[in-house]
Amino acid sequence: MPGRPSAVTCCVAGGGPAGMMLGFLLARAGVRVMVLEKHADFLRDFRGDTIHPSTLELMHELGLLEEFLRVPHQEMPRLIAQFGDTSLAVADFTHLPTRCKFIAMMPQWDFLDFLARHGARYPGFHLEMRAEATALIEEAGRVIGVRGTAADGPFEVRADLVVAADGRSSVLRERAGLHVEDLGAPMDVLWFRLSRAPGDPAATMGRFDAGRIFVLLNRGPHWQCGYVIPKGSAEDVRRRGLDAFRASVAALMPFAADRVAEIRGWDDVKLLTVRVDRLRQWYRPGLLCIGDAAHAMSPVGGVGINLAIQDAVAAANRLWLPLREGRLTTEDLRQVQRRREWPTRVTQWLQLLVQRRVITTTLGRRGGRLTPPRLVRLLARFGSLARIPARLVGVGVRPEHVETPERAEAPV
Ligand SMILES: Cc1cc2nc3c(=O)[nH]c(=O)nc-3n(C[C@H](O)[C@H](O)[C@H](O)COP(=O)(O)OP(=O)(O)OC[C@H]3O[C@@H](n4cnc5c(N)ncnc54)[C@H](O)[C@@H]3O)c2cc1C
Repeated sequence: MPGRPSAVTCCVAGGGPAGMMLGFLLARAGVRVMVLEKHADFLRDFRGDTIHPSTLELMHELGLLEEFLRVPHQEMPRLIAQFGDTSLAVADFTHLPTRCKFIAMMPQWDFLDFLARHGARYPGFHLEMRAEATALIEEAGRVIGVRGTAADGPFEVRADLVVAADGRSSVLRERAGLHVEDLGAPMDVLWFRLSRAPGDPAATMGRFDAGRIFVLLNRGPHWQCGYVIPKGSAEDVRRRGLDAFRASVAALMPFAADRVAEIRGWDDVKLLTVRVDRLRQWYRPGLLCIGDAAHAMSPVGGVGINLAIQDAVAAANRLWLPLREGRLTTEDLRQVQRRREWPTRVTQWLQLLVQRRVITTTLGRRGGRLTPPRLVRLLARFGSLARIPARLVGVGVRPEHVETPERAEAPV
């Protein structure tokens, strides 16, 4: 691998969906870009394996869809919700105006590896694993680079633009002193796996019972299970003991009751502390935040990855030319926020509505039979209404399209 450059045109901190997509698109457009990822590989525990129809559409626009769909995945054409005994399709992707009318369930590391492999085709792409950005380098009020630590010790990289794509606990946005607005969430999620067996239902679904919400994602050989609990109550769940936890899982998925012993200890159960927030301002001279670093999304609808990727596409569309021509201004960064803030706000507003109307009321319910909320009953009564949530989840508000060119020659 060529050595680490000491100066690039754009330095992206964070090799998640936002950072890898931006790095790939900029390198493809002939910009010298370096992506810093603090982990040694993309092989991390579950953090969402959903590739949305809008992302698949981008793959098509990039001429990569066929190859991408050869990566092993499951196809999810509908989202099913079960309230008490009533099962309903709350989102039906089969009518979307996209080439792929399903969510592809694919391990996130396969998706990121795919982007890394394709990024490496371009001479301007440099991905540095085990390189953690720790501080911003500033000069006269402008961010001009990043300091970090890598396997071989501390390093510095100068860049015309630093992009913070370092996730919802972004170090760089904190170093930049950008103001985060906390929007609140009533729940946390306990994630774990159980194996699937012949005869199990095929559908990915959410189960709502009085006081309990349970999400089951069909991941082929296993179920990825999300046990939604009231915010801050993980310690209470642990205190009640593993047997009590296994018993409540068995009650929620009776077909897998024989497998709950696969949860061998609390190490098998990962806590996702849900946070919903957004930055008031996503940029400073020389710095732009995108993805979770700009807005952590609620897990409602599972749209965090989609928004992160859409931010990356919008940023690449707006910034590739000014970056290539060395005339990037803070106004360009403001325009990226302008483009993506509205979809973020609308999506978070809808998520907060579902949090209040469905999650809080379900978790707060003590006993009795749960019936679907009025909104959900409406979706079921008029089947075509299920296309609206499908559109919001599968495509999102203001979908982005690839406007960056492919430039094969080495960047200047
Ligand atoms: C348990 C769980 C389940 C989820 N399920 C879903 C789902 O089903 N669908 C969905 O759409 N979303 C889901 N999400 C949310 C989704 O993962 C995020 O919204 C999405 O990954 C955001 O992408 P990102 O690139 O902005 O940030 P991230 O994916 O968080 O990526 C940030 C990257 O930056 C790296 N990094 C962090 N700090 C530094 C640093 N200082 N220097 C260098 N690198 C750094 C991290 O290692 C990481 O690779 C889930 C999240 C979790 C935690």
